[in-house]
Amino acid sequence: MASQPPPRIYHETYGCQMNINDMEIVLSIMKNAGYSETVEVPENAEIIFINTCAIRDNAEQKVWQRLNYFWFLKRCWKSNVDSGRAQSLRPPKVVVLGCMAERLKDKILDADKMVDVVCGPDAYRDLPRLLEEVDYGQKGINTLLSLEETYADISPVRISKNAVMAFVSVMRGCNNMCSFCIVPFTRGRERSRPVESIVKEVGELWKEGVKEVTLLGQNVNSYNDASGSENEIEPGNNWALSEGFKSMCKVKNMGLHRHNICKCIHLPAQTGSTTVLERMRRGYSRESYLELVQKIRRIIPDVGISSDFICGFCGETEEEHAGTLSLIKAVGYDMAYIFAYSVRQKTHAHRNYSDDVPEEVKQRRLSELIKAFHETTCQCYDSQVGTIQLVLVEGPNRKAPDTELVGKSNRGHRVSFVNLPLLDRDNQGYSKQNPVFGDYVEVHITKSTRTSLYGEALAITKLTTFYNNVEKATVACGM
Ligand code: SF4
Repeated sequence: MASQPPPRIYHETYGCQMNINDMEIVLSIMKNAGYSETVEVPENAEIIFINTCAIRDNAEQKVWQRLNYFWFLKRCWKSNVDSGRAQSLRPPKVVVLGCMAERLKDKILDADKMVDVVCGPDAYRDLPRLLEEVDYGQKGINTLLSLEETYADISPVRISKNAVMAFVSVMRGCNNMCSFCIVPFTRGRERSRPVESIVKEVGELWKEGVKEVTLLGQNVNSYNDASGSENEIEPGNNWALSEGFKSMCKVKNMGLHRHNICKCIHLPAQTGSTTVLERMRRGYSRESYLELVQKIRRIIPDVGISSDFICGFCGETEEEHAGTLSLIKAVGYDMAYIFAYSVRQKTHAHRNYSDDVPEEVKQRRLSELIKAFHETTCQCYDSQVGTIQLVLVEGPNRKAPDTELVGKSNRGHRVSFVNLPLLDRDNQGYSKQNPVFGDYVEVHITKSTRTSLYGEALAITKLTTFYNNVEKATVACGM
């Protein structure tokens, strides 16, 4: 009898970029175990991975909805195959990965055969064994947290093939224990990958055509290579930028001026009120945060700053909320993730404070913060009009795929422009050519739609050529 082909995998990811990268690690582990085929829809899969997020209640609710649907697929597998609705060879095994796995393992497993395997973020190497246990009529469960696991030796299978950008995890876990945050409980203690393994992975991505890498971690500021390579930081006052921050910010000056580092900094404020920051146990004040923003802008004048905000945290008064509104206006963020507070079990806030801001007040404050953010972000975009930006081409603009390209500026703004043949600054003797995905293009910004930019492409270039020639190009535009 011919042996059955290996089960096909469907995967779905919720939450942060770290979860996306974790799914790539999971796919690599599964590929090495012989499970290499993935499918686009859960109806055709024999293994369904759902990588979950526990950071807010609505993120969890979405996952429960999907689990209910997957449970339906399990129960109706035979009739779905008979009716041609599904092509799966065997009833699917549903696997819950990530932060919810760690937090809700008992509840998930009790949910009436809904889930077959529960695997926490530090146990992905165990997945092939856990799946085998299901074949013997068991549930597979491993949610142990580790003090060492970084998956440093695993080459992630990239989900977005042909993308010019990729994520690389450099550390995992968090020791900070902000009072509202579940992450230290679901992801465990901080640990960093050795520098060599990161450099190797980035080198492999470069060979695949990746031009931009985002280094990830629950708390990248705490990256600390135990092998000692960090001692190579330049001498001098490297810690000056962290004044006023107890634990959150350990910025090093090294590299801030390098052109191959994008000019975007994610600096989560969470709130603009010093008293709320104290209750949140963030380890800095509104004043020290604003001072840090000013220092960064002195060093990198056209830097883009993004942030995270929580409104309606325990005990938040109207005055404290007004502090967040004024911080948003004072800083002028390029990008912000703004959410209403939802209490998470186990956290300091859950044990010690009362979630006492009524839901309608949270929602009103949320709308006010979003409105303030939109007003100030317009100014960030408008300020780019008239400048020349280096844009990394990502592909056709979906709104005009036949005539326009879209890419990302060094400051993280989306820029679209008409796709015309251009001179190549490094090969001026050659005839003009259309830029392609992964090229760098000089773009003169002519219009701001307040959430994206539009411009005129001037030439194909390279990072170093652009920064050597940028003044010349400015003159050519009559600026
Ligand atoms: S720094 Fe604070 S908010 Fe961020 S992951 Fe750690 S505990 Fe959570």
